[in-house]
Amino acid sequence: MKPEPSCNDPAEPGVLSVTDAVDRLIEHAQPVAAACKLPLRDCLHRVVYEDVRSGLDVPGHDNSAMDGYALAFDQLPESGYRRFRVIGTAYAGQTFERAPGDGECVRIMTGAALPPGVDCVVIQEQARRFDDDQVELPGKGQKRNQNLRRAGEDIARGATVLPRGHFIRPADLGVLASLGVNELKVFRRPRVSFFSTGDELKSLGEQLEKGDIYDSNRYSLNGLLRECAVDLIDMGVVRDDPEALRRTLLDAAGCSDLILTSGGVSVGEADYIKGVLEEIGQISFWKILMKPGRPLTFGRIGEALFCGLPGNPVAVMVTFYQFVIPLIKTLSGRAYLPPLSFEAVCDSDIRKNPGRREFQRAIAEMDETGRLHARLTGRQGSGILTSMSQANCFIVLDEQQGPVARGDRVRVEFFDQYFSR
Ligand code: AMP
Ligand code: MG
Repeated sequence: MKPEPSCNDPAEPGVLSVTDAVDRLIEHAQPVAAACKLPLRDCLHRVVYEDVRSGLDVPGHDNSAMDGYALAFDQLPESGYRRFRVIGTAYAGQTFERAPGDGECVRIMTGAALPPGVDCVVIQEQARRFDDDQVELPGKGQKRNQNLRRAGEDIARGATVLPRGHFIRPADLGVLASLGVNELKVFRRPRVSFFSTGDELKSLGEQLEKGDIYDSNRYSLNGLLRECAVDLIDMGVVRDDPEALRRTLLDAAGCSDLILTSGGVSVGEADYIKGVLEEIGQISFWKILMKPGRPLTFGRIGEALFCGLPGNPVAVMVTFYQFVIPLIKTLSGRAYLPPLSFEAVCDSDIRKNPGRREFQRAIAEMDETGRLHARLTGRQGSGILTSMSQANCFIVLDEQQGPVARGDRVRVEFFDQYFSR
């Protein structure tokens, strides 16, 4: 009996491991060569085009981190309490220009600029206030420079705050606002067009005849692409007809950075797509050592990259997470980082033969002790799309892995980590 192919086999043409396929894909992709300027509030999930340097110190001035009393540290007693005269109050947003002298302090609020001559704030909870201008402060446990925030301690003027290629998250919007940036140069979003292929596919609103199914992939893909912050172009369903395919692909190539299709790439008799692709583009056909989602077609049509995903509803999503997201990140101007994976206790028995990397749909949750557990959603066929909708992660079983028993450790990858990382 012939053993299952494994990654250690001598290279069989067109057969790739998942990892090698990702490497090849991103090797062929370039960040889009265009930028646009956007108001800051529209920059979430955009990618920084040029290094952002700070024109300011943040904070802009030395200030108090707490509500309390500001003074020269040397004024505090070695032990016990010393009485001070409160010469005024420093509020955030106002300046207090008078330095406290011998036996004097300034009442100070969080965020208020430090008065001159001050190098210590004693928090108000440790003070004994007598009347409006008398307070006793302890010496014990106090330190010079305590409860102060120094100018530039978060961001120094001239520092690179966000490098080119940085993916903008909510905190970045806040950081940019703290620098007074109200417009930012970001990469243009990649334009991704996609369509489904198959004579059996009906669009929503159409009547199903015997043997027809609704085109679900276009909706899963639409959702996935919207989570990836791209501009998407939905090109509908294309019949299994070479002329219609050729026309649609050429249209898509004229207006896209990436074209995705689903279906029509297996070796069924209606799979014309290969012939058409070879005629109008440079295309490779890969058999990937994975389950589900074996065949993948990748290449270029004109200026656009092309990625032909399998037709099976689960396979299309699995291959999207594994291959299309790295491509989109690269096109977007981001660096590709492999997905984070987490160790979990497997609560299901899983059948598996060594040879391919498997992506089993699972639900991962923490138990009462904080340990992560993962269990299969149920049937795992590549047509069982509800397995994706119930799951929050894949249990990823590597090529060499054999069967898994309940209680074994497995690695999980959460769906919502793929793009955000
Ligand atoms: P194919 O790769 O075209 O041979 O398709 C493989 C399987 O996936 C077949 O059962 C198709 O009916 C199904 N399929 C292909 N495209 C879609 C789609 N857009 N929506 C739902 N199922 C599909
Ligand atoms: Mg088909």
